[in-house]
Order: sequence, then structure tokens, then C-alpha cells
Amino acid sequence: MATKNNSLQEALERLSKMNANPRKQNAKYFQCKEGRNDVLVLPTAKDGHPFAEWWVHKALIDPSKPWIAVACDKHNDGGECVICDMAQTLKDQNFKGNEAIWKPLEAQKEMYSPVVDLNDIDAGVQWWSYGRSISGQFETWLRNIEEDEKPFYDMLAPQKIIVMYDKNAAPKDKYKLDRKNLKPLDPEVYDEWFATIKPIDEIRNNRKSADEKEEILGNYIKGKEKSLKAMSVETAKKTETPAATAKPTAKKTMVEEAEEEEEEVVITPKKKSSKLNALKDGDDE
Ligand SMILES: [Zn+2]
Repeated sequence: MATKNNSLQEALERLSKMNANPRKQNAKYFQCKEGRNDVLVLPTAKDGHPFAEWWVHKALIDPSKPWIAVACDKHNDGGECVICDMAQTLKDQNFKGNEAIWKPLEAQKEMYSPVVDLNDIDAGVQWWSYGRSISGQFETWLRNIEEDEKPFYDMLAPQKIIVMYDKNAAPKDKYKLDRKNLKPLDPEVYDEWFATIKPIDEIRNNRKSADEKEEILGNYIKGKEKSLKAMSVETAKKTETPAATAKPTAKKTMVEEAEEEEEEVVITPKKKSSKLNALKDGDDE
């Protein structure tokens, strides 16, 4: 145990020397490796806690690359978001009928925490992007905290988070978290780490201008229109064969196979220049 702590201390010293001449580098993301991972979850100096949220619209630019996302200014800062507005308009217009179009438009929350991989301390602070199973565990720990206990990310009573990762397990069982007390680290080490933690919007760096968002949205709608035309043909056929079940995968194939026909389009936005408000015509006043 003592040797383990010593090596940790040595690594921290090495790290603090490294930070004396920081190299210019993009954000590093922490990836759990199969099996056991030991991480220190860091509060940010600014927030005092480690939980960063970032809202995005995914898979609009390229459905096969959902990591190319567009920041949602509405959910992130209460600003304007033409994509959210469009999703809302489509819902108001025809909730069920337009679902295939508005569903993928909806903003999704990404969750991040700055962490230090205790098996690779030299890597410095990395961003860990995680889903609900992990955030749920964090919440449970915080909810059940005893009066004399500190949160797991407290600098003065740090805890090592042990993450057992099994990539082949069912989604809810992929990650098993446990924690162990660590000796407090030198506050200077924290200061050095804090100094390297940028705000999450700089890390994700995927804000788009209103014009860019309109263009992305326009292209998305164009693509959807195509599939919807195909789908409406298929729906017509399906009414004759009630046995057909609505498996999404089956649907996809049908869309792909269906011929393009000029029939029943659920939505038809007008010119792009109309600020994509075409669908709203008549709604406002
Ligand atoms: Zn939005």
C-alpha cells in the first residue's frame, strides 16, 4: 500500500514538472479500458463540482457520425435555437405523424467530468464522457451522503473511483463503480490540474451560427422528406397487411427499397431563406 502511494506521489511530482512547460494540446478524452480503471474525479475550480453538461443536436450533419454534433444554444444558455424551434413546431403540428422528423432533432444531454487516470497520471486531466448508468451511481452516492462525509470529489478527502468495465455486458451492467479513500493530495497538485481544465464549451467547441444551423437543418429536412415520401408509400401498403410489425430495422429497409414517388409528404418547408419558419405560417397570431 505504501509503495503504491509512493509511486502515486512520484508520478504527481513528475506531472507538476511537466505542467511547468505545458504543451499546446487539444482536450484529451478518457476512455475506460476493459476491466479495472482507477480514476480521480475532479471538481473544477470554477464550479466546485465535477459535473459538466453539454446539450447538443446529434446526427444531423451526418447520421453515421453522431459525434459530429451541433451545440444547442437554447439548452446550454437559454439562447435561440432554430433546431429546437423546428422540433417544437413539428410536434405542435402533428405529434405522431411528424415523429420520425422531430425525434432526431431533439437536443440531447452529454455529461462530462474532468478526471485523472490513476494508472496514467502523466496523461494529466482528461474529460470523461459518460451515460446515465454512471451519472446515476454518482447521484446515488451524493444522495446517500452521511453528515460527516464529504462528496467523492472533495479535494481534502479524495476518493479513488474504481470502474469495472465490461464492454460485452448489457448496457446497464457495462460499468460497475466502487470507491476507496485516498490520502489527500498536495493542494498545489490540484491547482495545477485546475489550471488545465477548460470550460466544457471550449472542449466540445461545436457551436454554430444561426445561419449554419439553418443550413444544417435545411439539409436534414431535405433528407427526411425523401425518406418520408418513401415511407408514406410503405404505410399505404402496410394497411393491407396488418401482420407487418413496426420493427424499426424493417422500416429502414422498406424506406431504402421503396421507390420515390410524389405522394403525401408530411412536411414541406418552403425556401431555406424563409428562416425555416415556413412551417410556422399561421401559427403565430
Ligand atoms: Zn436546440
